Amino acid sequence: MRDVRDSSPGFSRRGFIQSLALSSLAVGAAPGVAATTANKSGQDHQALGDSFVVEAGWILREAGGELELLRDGQVLVRRGVIEEVRAGRFSDALPRLKLPDQLLLPGLISGHTHCCSATPTRGIIEGPRSYARPLELVEQLSDDEMDALTALNLAELLRSGCTTHLEMSLSLRQAESYVRSAEPWGVRAYPGAMIPGIERLFAIWFRENDQVLMDAESGTLDEIAANLAFCKKHMGKGEGRILPMMSPHACDTQTPATMRALASAARELGTGLHIHLSQGQRETDTVKRLWGVTPTQWMESFGMLADGPVFGAHMSGLDWDIDPPILNKHGVVYAHCPSGGGAGNGTQPYPEALAAGMAVNIGIDTHSNDYIENLKLAVLYGQARHELLGEWDSGRESQRPTVWNAVEGATRIPAKGLGRDDLGVIKAGARADLISIEVSGMLNGTGALPPEPLNNLLYANGRMVRTVMTDGRVQVHDGMFVADDPQHILRDGGEVAKKIWRQLEAEDWFTPTPR
Ligand SMILES: [Zn+2]
Repeated sequence: MRDVRDSSPGFSRRGFIQSLALSSLAVGAAPGVAATTANKSGQDHQALGDSFVVEAGWILREAGGELELLRDGQVLVRRGVIEEVRAGRFSDALPRLKLPDQLLLPGLISGHTHCCSATPTRGIIEGPRSYARPLELVEQLSDDEMDALTALNLAELLRSGCTTHLEMSLSLRQAESYVRSAEPWGVRAYPGAMIPGIERLFAIWFRENDQVLMDAESGTLDEIAANLAFCKKHMGKGEGRILPMMSPHACDTQTPATMRALASAARELGTGLHIHLSQGQRETDTVKRLWGVTPTQWMESFGMLADGPVFGAHMSGLDWDIDPPILNKHGVVYAHCPSGGGAGNGTQPYPEALAAGMAVNIGIDTHSNDYIENLKLAVLYGQARHELLGEWDSGRESQRPTVWNAVEGATRIPAKGLGRDDLGVIKAGARADLISIEVSGMLNGTGALPPEPLNNLLYANGRMVRTVMTDGRVQVHDGMFVADDPQHILRDGGEVAKKIWRQLEAEDWFTPTPR
């Protein structure tokens, strides 16, 4: 978020997984692999088992600490881990996933998502209208309805190659819903609920006087305690893939007492912090007015930047003279979400952050779950912004973003920020979080394997992702979501969206928009 069914779906999805688990046992597949699909060459992902070879036209691997593109490469995966990457063939005895026209990348990492709440705003806020009311209505749904929304949004994230999520659910109920889908699907996640949650947020965030903030303090301290309990309850679930972290909304909705409590909770958990940081000039001005320092300085004063990973989203209101050296000293990652606030909601300071030497991740935020589209937008919006900054002689340092910047920002930069040298890279010893993207076909290819395949990503979208796996478990195979039943997920998610639209219509929310 930026400044600006009647039947039980949970039950029937579980039934679907159970029936497929039985059928997968019958063909000897790896436990946890759900549906049976064969790709164009007749390959069945279940037949891969737990040791297999991925052959790809191009592989973006890390060698000697540098990223390099390997032509006609092979990756050997055993029990969820990459054992070796090479150009030559491995033993013929191993099952193979053959992707000769595709580019193999590490699983993409989003440093900022609000999973359950993406589809309820998409397609209705671009007028522009405020996203606030649809998001409030999400929180009024039943657990089953919330699960239907979470499932669709989570499936979309996976479908577009996003395997690891720093998930700031908009409430504890939505965070619980997120874990209910993420754990059985084998998703890697750092979940938490936004503090204050969506039910209390807008009154505090858009307050007319600061007494509202002070009066909210005890309620926010209660939320911090409840979130700490949530984090402890789910820590290490999903064979270690679920690692909850504290996720405060932003500095302008906290007081010194709640900041101390957040710092203490984060220190106790050891998984770090995920926050909206200087997401607009208004936030920076408010924190300076109340506490005399920038949000970054204020966080540092509580020791919040020193213990564990810190991911800050948006940073549009950063003080460019003061903040970048502090953020860089502590290895803070800027989660740049090019479609944050919805499609067409302006550009963000990606070129300035690159020029300041900051670690920049590409994140999702709320309304779009298409990671490839967001990667592309980061580069194209960033290049446009860089050119305009130069023309207007803004006085800011700026660096023209490249597709290499964005791909690294989607993979090993956030992995490093998380303290995970086993994520975000294709190399021996890394987790087998892998995705493949079509780069040779219609619309983003040329009919032949291209010479510089990262450039073809600039013409791609998430539906061109063909394979997604986490810890070697296939979740998307040959462009089909196979971790669960996609038709069921889409239908149930759509029913909940229709319910929200009906309520918005009843409230005369659909005001006329410019044509
Ligand atoms: Zn956000």
